[in-house]
Amino acid sequence: MSRIWNFSAGPAALPEEVLLQAQEELLDWHGAGCSVMEMSHRGKEFTSIIEQAEADLRELMSIPAGYKVLFLQGGATQQFAQIPMNLLAGRSADYIVTGSWSKKALNEAQRVGNVRCAATTESSGFTRLPTAEEIKLDPFAAYLHICTNETIHGVEIPAERIADTGVPLVVDMSSHILSRWVNVEKFGMIYAGAQKNIGPSGLTLVIIREDMLGMAPLTIPSVMDYAVMAENGSMLNTPPTYGIYIAGLVFQWLKRQGGLAGIDAVNTEKARILYQCIDESDGFYHNPVDLDCRSRMNVPFTLANADLDAVFLAESKAAGLVSLKGHKSVGGMRASIYNAVPLAGVQALVDFMNDFAQRNG
Ligand SMILES: *Cc1c(COP(=O)(O)O)cnc(C)c1O
Repeated sequence: MSRIWNFSAGPAALPEEVLLQAQEELLDWHGAGCSVMEMSHRGKEFTSIIEQAEADLRELMSIPAGYKVLFLQGGATQQFAQIPMNLLAGRSADYIVTGSWSKKALNEAQRVGNVRCAATTESSGFTRLPTAEEIKLDPFAAYLHICTNETIHGVEIPAERIADTGVPLVVDMSSHILSRWVNVEKFGMIYAGAQKNIGPSGLTLVIIREDMLGMAPLTIPSVMDYAVMAENGSMLNTPPTYGIYIAGLVFQWLKRQGGLAGIDAVNTEKARILYQCIDESDGFYHNPVDLDCRSRMNVPFTLANADLDAVFLAESKAAGLVSLKGHKSVGGMRASIYNAVPLAGVQALVDFMNDFAQRNG
């Protein structure tokens, strides 16, 4: 067996330890005589799995008691609609657009109700954060939506740049949740599709302050209503049980890495060596994002000579470095270096890139 170094943007790499544990437990979970996929979501075995997953997540992120944790389906994209359906309550909401994902969130919310773009950096190619002067907030907005890590453009909003604006902050953290410490109390709601930093696709995590529940009109479907899902412990209907189980194993793995402080230190070093390789390549590689908002999870870069793109991709793949092709809207390359990509994998990429630049520069 040989495993690749996987730089996929999502579904993305999972910790090998987690996969091995899932393999070991596949046919007979803890003496249950069946797989987690085959057991009732209402039985005591699965109840213990979901309760442990929530407890471990609460511990990792220090989620205060006044917040609910929901394990939902439909991906972050469903949240783009579900958020205004639940939280607008006949009012308007503000969106700050810093890349493709927050733009999609805004466009989808516009289908549901009255929302406005409070700032956008699209004219700068989504390579920077908006300045304070550029952000035009409505003080009466039902909420302010931001995406703190733009997976496609590689723009991450540092925690210290997130100011309290007096309206509840709703944040898409799909591609960097659990990669570093965040103060959950700053947010009204945090959401994330699982397939970047949590587990398999099909699971969506929502962390929501209790006062944000119960605002939805009675006309929305009950599976879409956060309050109904919270009242039913995410089990109004059958939840994505296997995804929740794997997410729980990932949370336990994260605790063994020293929690968010431990993984933060590794992520900092991974990003440092990769950006250093790009910045010190004498222009052979280029990352266009401002230094104060470069993502530590998704690193897009171009080659000065785009004719070499195909050669770069073929040779890197042959070297076991996989899924480096950039998103079609940005071009070039993108290395997604989520929690589960170890420092050794990023070092292997940097070694390849240095060698490739030397041979082709
Ligand atoms: C991947 C991603 C999404 C979309 O997630 P789906 O689960 O495919 O709906 C939304 N926002 C961000 C920041 C993402 O990285």
